[in-house]
Amino acid sequence: MSATDPAVPRTYRVRTFGCQMNVHDSERLSGLLEESGYLPAADGAVADVVVFNTCAVRENADNRLYGNLGQLYPVKRAHPGMQIAVGGCLAQKDRGEIVRKAPWVDVVFGTHNVGSLPTLLERARIADEAQVEIRESLETFPSTLPTRRESAYAAWVAISVGCNNTCTFCIVPSLRGREQDRRPGDVLAEIEALVAEGAIEVTLLGQNVNSYGVGFGDRGAFAKLLRACGEIDGLERVRFTSPHPRDFTDDVVEAMATTQNVMPHLHMPLQSGSDAVLRAMRRSYRKARYLGIVEKVRAALPEAAISTDVIVGFPGETEEDFAETMDVVRRARFSGAFTFQYSTRPGTPAADMPGQVPPDVVADRYGRLVALVDEIAWDENKRFVGRELELLVTEGDGRKDDRTRRLSGRAPDNRLVHFTPGAPVRPGDVVTVRVTHAAPHHLVADGEPLGVRPTRAGDAWERRNAAPGSTSGVPLGMPRVPVG
Ligand code: SF4
Repeated sequence: MSATDPAVPRTYRVRTFGCQMNVHDSERLSGLLEESGYLPAADGAVADVVVFNTCAVRENADNRLYGNLGQLYPVKRAHPGMQIAVGGCLAQKDRGEIVRKAPWVDVVFGTHNVGSLPTLLERARIADEAQVEIRESLETFPSTLPTRRESAYAAWVAISVGCNNTCTFCIVPSLRGREQDRRPGDVLAEIEALVAEGAIEVTLLGQNVNSYGVGFGDRGAFAKLLRACGEIDGLERVRFTSPHPRDFTDDVVEAMATTQNVMPHLHMPLQSGSDAVLRAMRRSYRKARYLGIVEKVRAALPEAAISTDVIVGFPGETEEDFAETMDVVRRARFSGAFTFQYSTRPGTPAADMPGQVPPDVVADRYGRLVALVDEIAWDENKRFVGRELELLVTEGDGRKDDRTRRLSGRAPDNRLVHFTPGAPVRPGDVVTVRVTHAAPHHLVADGEPLGVRPTRAGDAWERRNAAPGSTSGVPLGMPRVPVG
């Protein structure tokens, strides 16, 4: 902490809540601060600047933010010059209310003016007064902002921001605005630059990637973008999130099936299997269409893994409606699902809908849904026992309680595999393993890997982690010896 000595660079910490879009925005907040001379605060150290990048989706999102701000109040009192900033969806929604409730907050900025953070921090410091700046629409596409990527080998690439849909449980459109698409050339240039820096995997990011191109009048733009990614040398894996069943077109299925580096994994939110509930959610598709897409994807990519998002207990949901959801889960045979108990989201149409389902009924349905999803995911995973899989070695996927020093990686279909490294491997390298057993949420490959392929991404990871002060530049699987 060096709040008072101008000669000592100030340090920062970004706390991220919510979705991948927020994770990517936080990479930009870190990039902006580092470009302004800040350094990441060391683990456990008090940072000069703490930034909360907030989410507004969950009912208790507010409680969580004000809880964290409350904990920071005494820390700030003990560290004069420390600054606190709040951004993201909750800031866009609550605006000046945040400073009224927590007057020790210095800066509040929104989802449309991420780039303003360093200036607002400086202005608050000089004026010794809180700065609240919220924009109603995007000034510049955030991809032009400096970015401190979390990973050296895999990267998020935003292709659009905002959303034109109006799902009744969702607050995103009112906080992130209508969809704005990046030009394909900009997206591809960013990907080529990332590959040149060492990345071998990218995830194309948007609230609804299937409507990409609506902004510049090309309904086939997303399929074309996937194909164009197939032309980029050195790019081994392409993923995307989130697709929307209403706009999911056959040309995207074809592009997935015929573009070698587009991975055979589709995470397509279902939300509900009941047409009545889908109508009340204003999801603009029905059960038959969803299952039709699953069928087409499975026909074109028999090995594809399909995962999803499901909400149970949406207002008005009956036991028959819930049975429809369970029916889709049985027929789609998902490799996994993010499952949510519906909770009232202030500011959304669904919050005021009649027929709010009692919490115990929601919890009961939730339990039955999770049990079925896990049963099917495990069954599907058992098909892989004895098979060879090529994994991208990852960081942060490991099991905390694992004393076997197993490492982790992702298969092309995004399945998580824990394996025992024989030879030294680094995150970003590629290993080939034989699966020895299956669990509901992961696979295990014990025994020596069948092959290790060091990659440019592994080199990039090693370069980044071998930087002065980092102790983790040593290939994983070997005893760690502190550097220097
Ligand atoms: S598609 Fe629906 S759920 Fe997804 S961001 Fe848009 S409005 Fe929200």
